[in-house]
Amino acid sequence: MSKNIAIIGAGITGLSSAYFIKKQHPECSVTIYEASNRAGGKIQTYRKDGYTIELGPESYLGRKQIMTEIAEEIGLGEDLITNQTGQSYIYAKNKLYPIPGGSILGIPTDIKPFLKTKLISPLGKLRAGKDLIKPSLNIDNDISVGQFFRERLGDEILENLIEPLMGGIYGTDIDDLSLMSTFPEFKQREEQFGSLIKGMKYEKEQRQKQRQLYPGAPKGQFKQFRHGLSSFIEHLVDYVIKQGVEIKYNTPVSTIRKNQKSYDLVIDDNSTFSHDGLLITTPHETFTKWFENDPVFDYFKSMDSTSVATVVLAFDQQNIENTHDGTGFVIARTSQTDITACTWTTKKWPFTTPDGKVLIRAYIGKPGDTVVQDHTDEEIVSIVRRDLSQMMKFKGDPEFSIVNRLPKSMPQYKVGHIDKIKDIQTHVKKTYPNLRITGASFEAVGLPDCIRQGKDAVEELFIDLNL
Ligand SMILES: Cc1cc2nc3c(=O)[nH]c(=O)nc-3n(C[C@H](O)[C@H](O)[C@H](O)COP(=O)(O)OP(=O)(O)OC[C@H]3O[C@@H](n4cnc5c(N)ncnc54)[C@H](O)[C@@H]3O)c2cc1C
Repeated sequence: MSKNIAIIGAGITGLSSAYFIKKQHPECSVTIYEASNRAGGKIQTYRKDGYTIELGPESYLGRKQIMTEIAEEIGLGEDLITNQTGQSYIYAKNKLYPIPGGSILGIPTDIKPFLKTKLISPLGKLRAGKDLIKPSLNIDNDISVGQFFRERLGDEILENLIEPLMGGIYGTDIDDLSLMSTFPEFKQREEQFGSLIKGMKYEKEQRQKQRQLYPGAPKGQFKQFRHGLSSFIEHLVDYVIKQGVEIKYNTPVSTIRKNQKSYDLVIDDNSTFSHDGLLITTPHETFTKWFENDPVFDYFKSMDSTSVATVVLAFDQQNIENTHDGTGFVIARTSQTDITACTWTTKKWPFTTPDGKVLIRAYIGKPGDTVVQDHTDEEIVSIVRRDLSQMMKFKGDPEFSIVNRLPKSMPQYKVGHIDKIKDIQTHVKKTYPNLRITGASFEAVGLPDCIRQGKDAVEELFIDLNL
């Protein structure tokens, strides 16, 4: 018998869940409840005068193919673009240093570029080399990413190379960040080879072999679309609507009620809708309120999310002088800046910028600071310009600037997160039949990971619903 399923949230997780439901069970009726007046959640592309500007996420990791597969199916295959490769930098000790060639997320795999870099002192390099002879840490439980890399490679390489590259992805202090929730593959390689450096060398060789299979393929790791990430959302919305999905915008769910065989969604205006199955894809700050009386959800009350803002500056070429030929840089936390990273977007994604112009995107906001909350947009722009002046020269004002605030947008996966999530999901399965919760607060934050989590949740929901 056909079922009537509700999805809360029209971000990438909610929309792709609708896609998977309709793909396997077109007879199901699907309604998406979205609080805001648009789909996409954190994804937001701003198009203006020939610029294509990402105000949230910028691209996705191409080797996680689930997003590319959907893109092709919804008619976006021709629009896929791979990033231009180029030198990336790390800002540390008041200077931009090229990231040593051959490193994987900061872990050296080629000895020569690593020995040559001035970013790490001779003593720091010697300490990192200990990884080659030190026995495996034999970790049983989760530990922090910081502790793991400090023990393997030493403090200096962690603070100057690994932390700026890895910390930014999760917006969590590296010494709190859960290894098992974020980079479990490093632990696996360390165990397999007894050394991280050897493990990463192997990993690099595997990637090179893979690349040799497709000799003409672009080298970049990241993918985007000719008209920005929002075009993925727009196509997905059109696609699911054609399959009969209804999207109710400006419809914030205020609470949910469990009945014997269904769930009632109560909307802010007190209207109520009843559904056989329910998939929740909102950030945890929202859904925790709906499970206020269930102590298993207390974990989410203590799980913080970092507030960040993306800041975009568009310049006339002649108003900016950048002597570094590369795609951008990340910043070591030991530096005295408020920004955490910057992309020279025009270099990395030439399609985003009209000729004669330069587009720069910076991130501001670190775990534990309140810089985004404490300042007006104008102040944030001048903080960003002040910080960026240490790396490049501005000879005039930007043509325009945009500050996009993303309050509590980066869920912090602290040590132990993965076990807590497993326990909570087991509890949800037992206690709330026909209901699943998923999205960026759970297993991973990347766009393809959100899609994959949506797919998994839908498959579990089908089992509950006997579909
Ligand atoms: C600054 C930043 C940069 C990032 N960069 C990248 C990147 O380059 N690549 C990458 O792969 N990932 C990136 N990420 C991560 C990625 O963007 C997110 O993890 C992902 O977009 C989350 O999608 P989601 O659908 O789970 O949640 P969201 O996008 O948050 O969607 C949730 C939806 O639920 C709705 N909602 C909330 N409450 C209610 C309610 N009560 N009723 C109804 N609807 C409600 C919201 O309005 C929203 O539309 C970045 C994240 C941030 C914050």
